[in-house]
Parts: sequence; C-alpha cells; structure tokens
Amino acid sequence: MQPNMTDYPSILKPQWSKLSAQLRRARKSNYYRDRIPAAAEKLQLHRHLFQSLPITTKAELVKNNLDFLAVSPSEIREWVTTSGTTGQPVRIALAKTDILRLAKNEAAALSLAGLRAGDGLLIAVGMDRLFVAGLAYWLGAQACGALSLRIGPSLVDIAGAAKLPLAPGRKWFLIGVPSLMASSLRDGAPLPENLGGIIGIGEPLLNADFQPNAVHRALAQFTCAPILSTYASTEVCCTFAQGPKCLGNHLNPQMGVIEILDAGSKPCKPGVSGRVVITPLGLQAMPLIRFDTGDIAALHLEPCPCGRSSPRLGPIVGRSAQLLKVQGVSIFATAIIELLREIYAGMDAIIHADRDAIGVDRVVIYVVCPPRRQNLLRTQFHNAARRHFKWIPKIQYCDIETIARIRSLRPSRKPQILIDTRVG
Ligand SMILES: [Zn+2]
Repeated sequence: MQPNMTDYPSILKPQWSKLSAQLRRARKSNYYRDRIPAAAEKLQLHRHLFQSLPITTKAELVKNNLDFLAVSPSEIREWVTTSGTTGQPVRIALAKTDILRLAKNEAAALSLAGLRAGDGLLIAVGMDRLFVAGLAYWLGAQACGALSLRIGPSLVDIAGAAKLPLAPGRKWFLIGVPSLMASSLRDGAPLPENLGGIIGIGEPLLNADFQPNAVHRALAQFTCAPILSTYASTEVCCTFAQGPKCLGNHLNPQMGVIEILDAGSKPCKPGVSGRVVITPLGLQAMPLIRFDTGDIAALHLEPCPCGRSSPRLGPIVGRSAQLLKVQGVSIFATAIIELLREIYAGMDAIIHADRDAIGVDRVVIYVVCPPRRQNLLRTQFHNAARRHFKWIPKIQYCDIETIARIRSLRPSRKPQILIDTRVG
C-alpha cells in the first residue's frame, strides 16, 4: 500500500525518521514489544503502518505501568506523577537524557513566550510531591539563562521576590495556574512593575474561537503585559507554547508528533476538534506511542500571525473524562464553568456528578458567590445554559467549606472543576 500523506497532515517530513527511532525504543519495553510490528521500526519506509499502531490510554498506562519501562531501573533518575485530576495518578519514569530533554523542551517554550537570558521567572507552581511542571519550568529557566524564583502556587511572597535585582532592561515573567493567579491578584497580591508576561498552565485562556475567556480577562485587569498559555502533559513531556502574536500553541517538532483523532480514531480535518494524541520524540525511559492525552482540541495548519509555520494546537475545549451526559446532551464540565465565569468571574464553583439508585446521572453545581449576586447569577446562568446546552443545570449556593469538602472526595493538586462519583 502506498503511504497517503493526506492521512497525516500534522506529521512533518523530518519527523518520520525520529518516529522510527521512537518505535525502536518503545519495542524494548514489555508493553510494546508484541504490540508494535518489527517493520514499524522503519516507519519512514512504511508510513501506512502508523495508523494501525495501538492508541495508548491513561488507563493502560496505570494498569501496566512498569511494563512501559524501556530502560533498566538503574538508569531511572526521577519518578514523576500526573495530578490525577481525571482519574488515578499516573507514574512516569525519567532517565538522565529525559531530564535534559525536559530542560530543552521547556527552554524552547519559555523562549517562545519571550523569556530571555537575564530575565526572571516567578514559578507559581509546586516543586514537590513528584510534580513535574515546577521542575520543568525551573530546568527551562536555567537552560534559558534566566533567574528563577520558586514562589509556589500562592502569590503571597511575590511582592518581596519581585523586588530582587534583575539586569538592566530585563523583565519578570510569571507562570502558574490562571484561575489561582487571578484569585491571588484579586486578593491584593501585587505584580512586578517590569512584567514581561503571564504564562498560564493547566487551564485554557482562550475560547475555541481564540477570544479571551473570563479568566484571561480577569488577569488582564491587573496588567498590560501579554497573557499567554502553554499546553503540556506529564506523560509525554512535550510543551506547546505561544508568543504574544500567536493564535494557538505551537508544536515543537523536535519533541513530538501530534494527531487529532475522532471517536473512531480517524484523523480529524484541520480546525475540527478531536482527541489530542501525542507521540513524544526522544523519550528514553518510558517511550509512549500514540498516547491519548484525554484532552479535546483542534489543530491548525495554516501559518500563524507570528510568522511560524509549525502546527498550532487550539484551546483545550474539554477533557474526555469530564464529559457529562445529561438528558441526552453531552457537555464538557469546562464549558459549564466557563459560562459561570463569563457571568461572574469572582465566583468559585464545583460540579458534582453522581448517579441515583436507578442509574440516572445527577449533576449539581455548587457555587460560592456573595448573597447580593445570587439571584442575578442564577437567572443569567439559566438563560445562557438553555441557549448553549439546551439544558438547565441545578445550582446550589454554598460556602467555601462545602466546596472544600466536595473537592476532598477526589483529592488533586490541580484546581478541580468536576467531582465525578458516578463510577468507582
Ligand atoms: Zn505563532
């Protein structure tokens, strides 16, 4: 069979030989040895084989974790885990070369956002508890020749930190979870005067049509500096980044191959949302093949306004594990929270999905909001939900302790928007 290039619009020509090398590495693991045919080790000659390779899911990675190792235990330098926001945390092993790759990957992403040697990076992300993100930003800042300050998820210490000296003309960049940063800024945390940009991780800052969402607008009230997003997943150590002029986040072709697949695992057309599936390039310890991140987004192949031509990933519109099916309608939990934030950005909310005794899904949105705003929020939200979802979710106002109690049902390091107790 002749390879059909139109089947792989997002795989760039130089990536095929790197993909072959990755498949050779993967076949060293117990998991992939029998799942990947030997001929795929020369994938550049047999491109048609790519689509027949199995998709690797998070569930498979949890279930067969150690079988994914392609190196001996003595070669492992770090174990990291995912946050477990949408299920069980996943353990990932990193070899020495994987840590060097992590630094290179993050340095490229931070450079795209504008970080230069001599600038300062305020890392508002945890470095402990096997979390890879904080480590990655620290490594990336070091590889860029920048100063890094590990201030942690709260911006409480930012005032003193940002007064530390930088080289003349250099700027501070702040990286963290957008909704947490917005909440700290609302509580009075000051930003440095010479701010070069805010980089948001883990949550989208734009709607699918590239318009700023409510969190983006909340952050923009506090600064004129660019507010940029970055997309990455722990399992594939592959960051998609953007600069001030970009529409979407650029793939770094050195680090991974991206596919956007529909429900039948066929490639979606550019601009059409589907499952984000990534094959990282150059990973040694746990070389994943066609890893389904669980995120839903579209890929854009036309050149970016910034002038770069590498494929761009659009905003994450949802996660497949956070898809609610109620009264015959499918709705992403993120879409519900975005809608609430559009109406009142200062609220906090969590969606609780469970199932009653006869198997019917129940969805309740617990919202913390000042009493004087509650009636208006409910009315506006019901009207908007009827328009957008053809469904009116149940809102229950509560205090912050109730939300904390619901969140504790499924502890996670990331801000949770959905607690799903329908299964498990
Ligand atoms: Zn761009």
